[in-house]
Amino acid sequence: MSTTKGNLSARDLEVIWHPYTQMQTAPAPIGIVRGEGACLYDEDNNAYIDATSSWWVNIHGHAHPHIAKQLAAQALELQHCIFAGYTHPPAVNLAERLLQILPANQRRVFYSDNGSTAVEVALKMALQYWDNKGQRRHKIIAFKNAYHGDTFGAMSVSGRSVFTRVFDDFLFEVHFLDVPTPDNIDHLIADIKAQQPDQIAAFIFEPLLQGSGGMIMYDIPAFDQLLSFCKDNHILLIADEVMTGFGRTGKNFAMEYVQTAPDMVCLSKGLTGGSMALGITTSTSNIYEAFLSADKLKTLFHGHSFTANPLACTVALASLDLFTDPACAQQRQRIHEKHQHFLQELTSMAPVKNPRLLGTILAFELVTDGADGYTNQLADHLHRFFRSKRIMLRPLGNTLYILPPYCITNEQLDLVYASIRELVSQLH
Ligand SMILES: *Cc1c(COP(=O)(O)O)cnc(C)c1O
Repeated sequence: MSTTKGNLSARDLEVIWHPYTQMQTAPAPIGIVRGEGACLYDEDNNAYIDATSSWWVNIHGHAHPHIAKQLAAQALELQHCIFAGYTHPPAVNLAERLLQILPANQRRVFYSDNGSTAVEVALKMALQYWDNKGQRRHKIIAFKNAYHGDTFGAMSVSGRSVFTRVFDDFLFEVHFLDVPTPDNIDHLIADIKAQQPDQIAAFIFEPLLQGSGGMIMYDIPAFDQLLSFCKDNHILLIADEVMTGFGRTGKNFAMEYVQTAPDMVCLSKGLTGGSMALGITTSTSNIYEAFLSADKLKTLFHGHSFTANPLACTVALASLDLFTDPACAQQRQRIHEKHQHFLQELTSMAPVKNPRLLGTILAFELVTDGADGYTNQLADHLHRFFRSKRIMLRPLGNTLYILPPYCITNEQLDLVYASIRELVSQLH
C-alpha cells in the first residue's frame, strides 16, 4: 500500500464514491490530514478555515484535546455493548445531563446513529403513539422545502426536490405547508383545518430556520401560532433540532424562542461536538407512557446495532462539558456581534440579496441570472473560488452562508469576510 505524502487525492479518485458529488465533473478532493481549532490542514500543511463547521457538525473546533482525552480513556474501559437488556455509564450520564438542558417537558432519551435515524425514530414514535392509543391518525404535515435527512422516511417528510426526484413515487404522502409569515399564518391554519386535524398524527419541522432548504428563517410569532394551533389539536410536534441544536441559533435549542413545547426533539450534528456520529430522539412522558403495556405489540420495535455506543456517548458528554461552560456562550455572542457588523456591510452590496442573521449563522443570496436554489450554476464557481482562498464555504445554490465552529477567532472570521467581499466585488 502506498502512503506517499501528497497523493491522497489521486488514490481517493480510484476507490471512493463521495456524498452529494457528481464524480465526473467535481474537482479532485483535497486530502485533509489533521485539524486544530477552526482549521483543517492538507498534506502540504496548508490551513483551510472550516467556515461551515464540516457540514454543520463541529462546534468546539477540530481535534479538541478534552474530547480526545475522554474518548481515549473510554476506549480503554468499554467500547461497545448491546443496549437491549444492558446499559452503561456514558448512556445514562448523557441522558441525565441532556434532559437538564432540553425543553423541560422532555423526559426520555432514545439513542440512534445520526440525524436521519433520529427523524425515523420520531416518525415511528408518533405513528405508533396513535396506534397504541387506538386512534387512527395517519397524516403527517411538514414544511415545503424542508430537509430532514436522506433515508426514506426522512426523505418523505422533506420537501420534494432534486434530491428526492428519483424516489418521489416511493415516498409516503405528506401534507406540505409554506413556512410561516405574518401574512400567511391565517391561511396556513385554515389549510390544516381543511386536512381534518383529528387525522393528523404529527407535524415535523426544523425550528426557526430551514438549513439545507437555503437557511430560510421564519417569523417567530407566526411560527409559534402555528405550533400552538397544532398543539390545541393534539398534533404531535416533532422539533428536528439536528442542525439548530447546541447553540447554533443563539439559544441552546431553537425551541427556546417559542412558547409552545415540542413533544419530541431530534438531535445529532453538534451533539458530539461534531467528532462522532450519534443521534437522539427525546420524548415527553405522555408519549413514552403510551408504549407501556402488558401487550408486547405496543413496544417500539426499533434499534440499531450501535445504539448508544459508549464512545459516542462519551464524546457527547465531553462536548457538553465545553458547551455548558459560560465561555462557550460568550464565543457565540462574539461571533453574532461580528456577523452583525458584516451584515450591515452586506446590506449595501448590490449583488447581495436578503442578508440575514440568526445566532452564529449569517446567510444571503447572490443575485444571478439563474433561478434561486440548489442547482443554480453559480454554486460551482463559488465553491472553486473559496477553495482557492483556502476557505471552506459550500454554498447552497446561490445562497452563501457562514456557520462556523464557535472557537473561530476574530482574525479567521475577518479572513472569511474578506474573501466574500472579494467575491462580491468580482460579481459587480
Ligand atoms: C443534517 C440534517 C439531518 C440529517 O442528519 P444526518 O446525520 O446527515 O443523517 C436531519 N435534519 C436536519 C434539520 C439536518 O440539518
